[in-house]
Amino acid sequence: MSRTESPFPRLLEPLDLGFTTLNNRVLMGSMHTGLEDIPDSHQRMAAFYGERASGGVGLIVTGGFMASKHCLPEGAEPLYRIPGEINKHKLITDAVHREAGKICLQILHTGRYSRTENLIAPSPIKSPINRFVPLEASQETIEEEIESFVDFAEFCQKAEYDGVEIMGSEGYFINEFIVQRTNRRTDQWGGSYENRIRLPLEIVKRVRARVGEKFIIIFRLSMLDLVEGGSSYEEVLQLGQALCEAGVSIINTGIGWHEAQIPTIATKVPRAAFSWVTARFRELLSVPVISSNRINTPEVAEEILARGDADMVSMARPLLADSDFVNKAASGHADRINTCIACNQACLDHIFSGQLSSCLVNPRACHELELQLDKAAQCKQLAVIGAGPAGLATAVTAAERGHSVSLFDAADKIGGQFNLARRIPGKEEFSETLRYYQAQLDKLGVNVQLNSRVTVSQLNDSNFDEVILATGIVPRLPDIEGIDHPCIVNYVDVIKGNVEVGERVAIIGAGGIGFDTAEYLSHAGESTSQNIAAFMEEWGIDMNLQSRGGIEGVEARFAASARTIYLCQRKAEGLGKRLGKTTGWIHRLGLVKRGIKMLAACDYQRIDDDGLHLMVDNDPRLLEVDNVVICAGQLPLRELSEGLQKPFHLIGGADVATELDAKRAIEQGTRLAAVL
Ligand code: FAD
Ligand code: NAP
Ligand code: SF4
Repeated sequence: MSRTESPFPRLLEPLDLGFTTLNNRVLMGSMHTGLEDIPDSHQRMAAFYGERASGGVGLIVTGGFMASKHCLPEGAEPLYRIPGEINKHKLITDAVHREAGKICLQILHTGRYSRTENLIAPSPIKSPINRFVPLEASQETIEEEIESFVDFAEFCQKAEYDGVEIMGSEGYFINEFIVQRTNRRTDQWGGSYENRIRLPLEIVKRVRARVGEKFIIIFRLSMLDLVEGGSSYEEVLQLGQALCEAGVSIINTGIGWHEAQIPTIATKVPRAAFSWVTARFRELLSVPVISSNRINTPEVAEEILARGDADMVSMARPLLADSDFVNKAASGHADRINTCIACNQACLDHIFSGQLSSCLVNPRACHELELQLDKAAQCKQLAVIGAGPAGLATAVTAAERGHSVSLFDAADKIGGQFNLARRIPGKEEFSETLRYYQAQLDKLGVNVQLNSRVTVSQLNDSNFDEVILATGIVPRLPDIEGIDHPCIVNYVDVIKGNVEVGERVAIIGAGGIGFDTAEYLSHAGESTSQNIAAFMEEWGIDMNLQSRGGIEGVEARFAASARTIYLCQRKAEGLGKRLGKTTGWIHRLGLVKRGIKMLAACDYQRIDDDGLHLMVDNDPRLLEVDNVVICAGQLPLRELSEGLQKPFHLIGGADVATELDAKRAIEQGTRLAAVL
């Protein structure tokens, strides 16, 4: 296909690095998936990365591998020191090269973020997100650490990686040397800026000297630290230019330290929110520059490249969500891409709770060898009742395997509760999942019957071989005096806009839906997730890059809530404690900043014309509100299972409503369809 005919001409244009050419401008960004740490890790990583190479990614970067014993548990050694590891890594590089892909290994030194007692940093300053206090690295140790990077790069070359990425951002070891916040040294590694950037420059120079000219070196440069005492724009530029001189092949953008209290990749963050940062450096650097963060569609990626913000785009989670992203874009089927909705629920949340990563919208991610979707031995007539996430996942997976599938829903559109989720300000991405499923249903020829409330007798009279009941839930109505008062409304009617809600509201129940309902009711206009400048203003980020770290001295400006809202729960613990591990704090902080009042330890007494009467921590209170919104959890809706004379399966909310989320619904639907 010529450049003019290509649907995404800039994204699909090869990138010539002089000694090697990348097939296109898509970099699969580094993600620690947990595959690194399990017994058959290399076979599974080979399958994982091989599938992404086969999907057309231009260049893959692996998850970070530890460069130093100071990042690892006591007694453990970095890979490059372990005999036999090279051959295991060749499994990965071979799998990628077989598919004509290219792959770099990320070398990571976690510095003061290391979860081990022998951690080191430039100065003994504890990170707010780690309980361990680092030791100050001695001059001798610093020399050893530099050599670790160099030895690791040589190891990678022997294992036939196409290059390495040196992790210099996110507040890790190298980044800690660069800024005064964490570097208080007075020797040649601290003090002046020249001294503070000596470490990254020495690492790059010595790696280049060891591996020669024909090996990719990517440096992940923290262009916006988003912490007090971070780098200034001029400093980052000076370092970027010095890195080019030192021999890097590509500079990748790093945004925000892990300890920054600003969201950088969650679904609330606008798409391509930070490409303006990369753009400020690109023209002034002599190597290709990569933009990253919240780039999740080929259209957005193409716009970034067309605007000249970057030479390449990094997408990490979008390649978990769909390994075939690039091929689909290239073949004119971008509408069939399973888009990452930036929920973090099955990727980052898993990693931070010690589980293997996967993806909410693609449960095969990181399970490539075990969850295979082979053609079914026998084609069955299947009825799937309910087109929420569970039913959709079952229907498309079963149809893909060759079954004849009919999908029924009582509503006039597919999606179930996702049609509510996508109306929440900051969750607009959820619409993409429904667009993906619709495209799959069309492609696979699933017989979709909307506005069809199915009954048991219809099913018993039908020719279906098996029935999948994915009928979801009904909201729970708690047993509180006055629960039938006219001021009571449920979240479904509120979010659908079926009811008028007054200026003063109490929400009973502070789970995911209670929080989302508070978010919905507190907004008056456009959500900042749709407007980059408004988002930056809200979180206090200086788009002129005149403040250190992009934030120093800048005030965050959250719009006040459009209503007086009380969010209530019975549990005595802090509200939102059980929300997503990596995103709960964002929901909580956003609501608090906008003035939502959070009440724990509530004992609801009654609801009447005066409002909601309750005890809070044993103190009587009256919340004088116009409406009480009930978000008190859900119960399974499975009436069709009674009297059904066909073989049937219950999935999603219809199976278990407690702690139900779309991750479980989609995974259960997919796994069931894999064995039907
Ligand atoms: P549902 O989505 O409830 O779908 C059931 C479907 O069955 C419905 O479309 C219904 O019309 C249909 N149906 C029922 N009976 C019949 C019948 N007799 N005949 C035909 N059709 C029938 N989850 C997350 O993981 N992350 C989130 O961020 C998130 N945010 C949310 C925000 C909100 C506001 C809400 C309400 C939910 C959110 N969820 C989220 C939860 C998630 O949407 C649900 O867990 C998921 O939709 C459950 O899927 P399901 O397929 O089991 O059921
Ligand atoms: P939930 O998380 O189980 O929360 C229900 C809330 O209602 C809790 O605050 C609970 O806490 C309260 N409650 C339960 N029974 C009650 C009763 N009888 N009387 C009064 N209060 C009661 O359920 P949900 O908020 O309905 O969400 C449903 C599912 O959707 C969740 O499991 C969640 O995973 C998913 N979801 C996820 C997200 C996300 O961002 N990841 C967003 C929305 C929804 P107390 O008992 O302490 O009062
Ligand atoms: Fe994206 Fe959510 Fe999948 Fe993670 S789990 S890759 S954030 S869709």
